[in-house]
Amino acid sequence: MIIFTHHTGEPHGILGAQVAATFFERKLSIPCIVVGIKRDFSREQLLHFVNDYYTGKDRVVAFSHLCGRKDLIALVGELKGQGFTTVLGGPQARQDYRGEPSTDAYPHRFKGLHSVMDVAFQGPIDGFGPNHLRSSANLLEHPWTRDIFLEVDWSNLFTFSNALTKLDVRLGQVLNAVGCPYASKAQTVTLPPPVMLRERNIPDLDIHSEGCIFCDVSRDKGYHGHIERDKVIAQIQGLPDVEGRKIPFELIDEYPLRSLGPLLEEMKRQRIALAQINLVCRVDDINGHASALADILSFARRQDTKIMFSSIGFESFNDRLLEYFCKGITVADIVMCVETLRHLKDRFGCTLLYRRDEGAHHGFIHPTPWDDPETVRENDTNIFLHRFFEDILPEHSTPLIIHHASTLGDWIRQIELTAGFRFGRDGTWIEWWNVLNPGEDPPRSFVGSLL
Ligand code: SF4
Repeated sequence: MIIFTHHTGEPHGILGAQVAATFFERKLSIPCIVVGIKRDFSREQLLHFVNDYYTGKDRVVAFSHLCGRKDLIALVGELKGQGFTTVLGGPQARQDYRGEPSTDAYPHRFKGLHSVMDVAFQGPIDGFGPNHLRSSANLLEHPWTRDIFLEVDWSNLFTFSNALTKLDVRLGQVLNAVGCPYASKAQTVTLPPPVMLRERNIPDLDIHSEGCIFCDVSRDKGYHGHIERDKVIAQIQGLPDVEGRKIPFELIDEYPLRSLGPLLEEMKRQRIALAQINLVCRVDDINGHASALADILSFARRQDTKIMFSSIGFESFNDRLLEYFCKGITVADIVMCVETLRHLKDRFGCTLLYRRDEGAHHGFIHPTPWDDPETVRENDTNIFLHRFFEDILPEHSTPLIIHHASTLGDWIRQIELTAGFRFGRDGTWIEWWNVLNPGEDPPRSFVGSLL
């Protein structure tokens, strides 16, 4: 069986899909590989490869982590048309299968993938059995827990551009927390309409959010606790070695610092040498552990292990936008965090990596629906005043992306309901900047008709 995913071609693993393929192979005795499809792929060559691969095999094909790519959704439709059973898994499987609510009354909305996917599976792969493919139910769900199957065959990943190419994974992932602890933080925020509609008498709306308001992943999965230490260590032991050290890996946990020191000590005790740990970490975790970080980095330096803060979700340098995002941090918190990292960098040199020119990519969301001269001025002033352009600011900002199943998706739909405006859709995204004219038709292409 093949699990297809989006892939950039860089040598990083795709943990969820690779765990699933390992589960199929080891627990269900179904040979399985993961094929990451690059954006420039040849459709003809891929279909040719698929037909060759499936000769004499059950024609079941799975998809995960499609990243809203319409070319991949068209591929699903094509394979289904050729008689394949198509299975959707991974993040947002349930919501992407179902689509947005009330698509009869609002035909421009994302209609979901149920017309091209035979089965959608939501949850950890542990709950999947061969009988599910024969089930009459199309949407299958298995609850997340902290005790899940986490074995990975890191050699099961390939990419496809014009031909199948084996990918030597050089950046792995290790799961330390199931979901995001911050996703448990419930809050209500009052959101004004997008600035281009400010003259239209649209009321501000109170929106309830759990976690960051734009985050579809946390909303989908929630938080189910941290993985037990020995299962984390087993994952690290299973990573490939290069020159006597485990390859760099991302520790998946938005609050990793409480675990980091004990984990490094355990690695030393078990004589497991690590090259580098990448952290995707919240600002409040760094500020809350500022005093402990020096000890952690001293220990890491003695082990010759690098610690990289590879992605910190700063997102904005404007307090009003941070509040709209429900980020739970202020600009003052960001300044404290960056100053801490700069001081530690002076002391620990190449043991600590956090800068843009060291490969880190920190979140900066711009443009947003609420940008006005005041937010732009405050952002620019803070970037200049605190020299964020030197080490923090990414080369390109990321526009605010509204996934149809995020809390902001609810906000857009509420505006559509109360004010009568319609916003464009592009696959699974909602185009908050694109107000459709009355009577404007949804897209008519083959993929458009699916969406
Ligand atoms: S954006 Fe990050 S910190 Fe915020 S809820 Fe999502 S995963 Fe958690």
